[in-house]
Amino acid sequence: MTHASPPTTYSPARIRETVQELLAAEGLPPIVQAGHPVLRQHAAPFEGQLEPDELTQLIVLMRKVMHAAPGVGLAAPQLGVPLQLAVLEDQFEIDEATAAARGRAPLEFFAMLNPSYSRLGNGTAAFFEGCLSLSGLQAVVERPESVRLEYETPDGGHVTKDFSGWQARIVQHETDHLHGRLYIDRAELRSLSTNSEYAARWAEPGIGSASRELGFPAGAQAGREAEADQAEAV
Ligand code: ZN
Repeated sequence: MTHASPPTTYSPARIRETVQELLAAEGLPPIVQAGHPVLRQHAAPFEGQLEPDELTQLIVLMRKVMHAAPGVGLAAPQLGVPLQLAVLEDQFEIDEATAAARGRAPLEFFAMLNPSYSRLGNGTAAFFEGCLSLSGLQAVVERPESVRLEYETPDGGHVTKDFSGWQARIVQHETDHLHGRLYIDRAELRSLSTNSEYAARWAEPGIGSASRELGFPAGAQAGREAEADQAEAV
């Protein structure tokens, strides 16, 4: 069952005012939590609602908030700004075994505007995933293993790039935010775990025991147990 996200009710002027308030405020803004409509509405495509220096300052602020959280991605609606903008970066040091299990390679920082993705191939991966806007929770989400991402850069360029593994998960999660979607829309809800229960019980390479004991399918990968591991929230 899928529901379409309603469009944002913010005018271009209100979007700009919201950004200007964020940039004028002391310290880092709080991350908007689930239940706020900005997370469930289709963000406005970026069409020059901000001056170039305002856009640059907003991206710098979003990167700071992402680092402080800490997380590997942040979408503008998570700061209350219904604009199709997200920042992504994954430079966490993780052990080789975990990196291999997740297909997790470092992701250089970038900001994307007006992104969209399409799946490549039929492969999927199921992992525990979290979100900074659903604080303290994780759930297993099965997603396409590889995607093709199209987006615009802050200086007006157009990029088409393929991503796989953990990078593909981050790309999908952030793009979904800009379209009013949260990971719980795609999650195995019976896997929903607090971070403490996850750490105590399910922090292992596979999702097999979580699947059996919580009662959810272990993913559609034929004959192969899906891998899962601790996820930094995004
Ligand atoms: Zn998120």
